Amino acid sequence: MQGSLWKVVSPIKPKLKFNQRLLGILQNRLYSTSEDADIVVIGSGPGGYVAAIKAAQLGMKTVCIEKNSTLGGTCLNVGCIPSKALLNNSHFYHMAHSGDLASRGIETDNVKLNLETLMAQKTKAVTALTGGIAQLFKKNKITSIRGHGKITGINQVTALKEDGSTEVVNTKNILIASGSEVTPFAGIDVDEEKIVSSTGALKLSEVPRRLIVIGAGVIGVELGSVWSRLGSEVTAIEFMPTIGGVGIDGEVAKSFQKILTKQGMNFRLGTKVTGAQKDGSTIKVSIEDVKDSSKQEVLECDVLLVCVGRRPYTEGLGLEEIGIEKDQKGRIPVNSVFQTVVPNIYAIGDCIHGPMLAHKAEDEGIVCVEGIMGGPVHIDYNCVPSVIYTHPEVGWVGRSEEDLKAEGIEYKVGKFPFMANSRAKTNNDTDGFVKVLADKSTDRILGTHIIGPGAGELINEAVLAQEYGASSEDVARVCHAHPTCSEALREANLAAYFGKPINF
Ligand SMILES: Cc1cc2nc3c(=O)[nH]c(=O)nc-3n(C[C@H](O)[C@H](O)[C@H](O)COP(=O)(O)OP(=O)(O)OC[C@H]3O[C@@H](n4cnc5c(N)ncnc54)[C@H](O)[C@@H]3O)c2cc1C
Repeated sequence: MQGSLWKVVSPIKPKLKFNQRLLGILQNRLYSTSEDADIVVIGSGPGGYVAAIKAAQLGMKTVCIEKNSTLGGTCLNVGCIPSKALLNNSHFYHMAHSGDLASRGIETDNVKLNLETLMAQKTKAVTALTGGIAQLFKKNKITSIRGHGKITGINQVTALKEDGSTEVVNTKNILIASGSEVTPFAGIDVDEEKIVSSTGALKLSEVPRRLIVIGAGVIGVELGSVWSRLGSEVTAIEFMPTIGGVGIDGEVAKSFQKILTKQGMNFRLGTKVTGAQKDGSTIKVSIEDVKDSSKQEVLECDVLLVCVGRRPYTEGLGLEEIGIEKDQKGRIPVNSVFQTVVPNIYAIGDCIHGPMLAHKAEDEGIVCVEGIMGGPVHIDYNCVPSVIYTHPEVGWVGRSEEDLKAEGIEYKVGKFPFMANSRAKTNNDTDGFVKVLADKSTDRILGTHIIGPGAGELINEAVLAQEYGASSEDVARVCHAHPTCSEALREANLAAYFGKPINF
């Protein structure tokens, strides 16, 4: 998933301030009145819609073509947003149902789940946010076209509309932000009711008694967690020996598995699924030990969630006709300024190299468009954070201990448990720890790994520190408000630079 670019730590962050005067000069040069548009963006996911807004803000005549009926792509419609709505509300239900609220003196009689209302709240959030993009497009005077965008010339995109008609847009630049789709599992057909992908798992109409998840990566554990909290008996089958997907620190992954197991989820690691068959209302899932194929078993479930990753979506874009060849993983190859082999055609987000994350797509969209207008183009992929929104959350940025060992970099470790953090203790939410990895000789922070309350928010402080090349001493000396969970991050940095935290 992470190409060589991903592993590179840029030494010092270059000054990225956009030069407004240069922008004015370039705007005059780049504009061509013979074109319908200065840029056509294909796809309105977080990569595409953010790029379109930035392009319009920089003065480009912008068109965005989206094939779906709502804007926002995977992230807003069937990804980040609906999954986080379900994670948030299933956590509240679990707190009430499991006796957690009662242990805090909040007694609730007869706690019941209304799945329809829970789903309706999710839909409300999705509708509000996708509608919000339509408003932003209007505000920024972006022309939004509903249709399947096909590149029909190096300066032309044709939108094929649902009613069979077409709309041709001539343009100076084209930005492909066509995203990704669910990777199918050979031999297992998804019907989105009994055998579901992440999309179907976001809208089940009843809580399955038994749910098997193929793949304990980020999306698998998030959705597994949702249904486990709502009452399913969840078993996740994972080929790898650890959960949490690519890039997670080994020690964090182990602790994460322990915590989720304590919460009721089951894991079968180092195990592969070899097939699945419907038998009445039951699904029989055949599994096999990765190391010893004689160890086979058949597990049963009521719903099977296939969650083995996503692949770039570039269907019907017309790439071949204009000479853009995809790489072995189906991605669109681009250079460091996101240009394809056709210089005025760019690509960003899930359809190119790098981690498939909404914020990565957004950042690429912004710098790509600024680059077209003559601005500098730079993203340090080592500073792109990852978050798993379970409870506790997991967040990390930079290198893991495994990465540093593999690269032969000498490092020191600073750790601090949430058990010793006053806010976590006050909130009775103490699972997890912060781990900071810093260069042994320079003290520069190389990676931060958090499992604990609010890790998804806390990690952004670590990202900021790492982006600016901070040392662990720098962070340890910054005043942090008390009592907050972020003090655990400070203490872990203190432990990394001084060897000892204060409160542990
Ligand atoms: C269940 C789930 C949970 C996730 N949670 C998170 C999370 O918490 N955080 C995170 O960072 N990431 C998360 N992701 C990943 C995130 O959704 C993607 O990385 C992100 O959406 C990628 O953005 P994108 O703009 O590249 O593509 P997409 O969001 O996939 O958008 C591409 C858009 O292009 C349109 N399109 C494609 N081809 C054409 C065409 N030819 N013409 C017109 N339109 C076209 C598509 O219809 C789509 O709307 C999650 C994904 C899933 C599935």
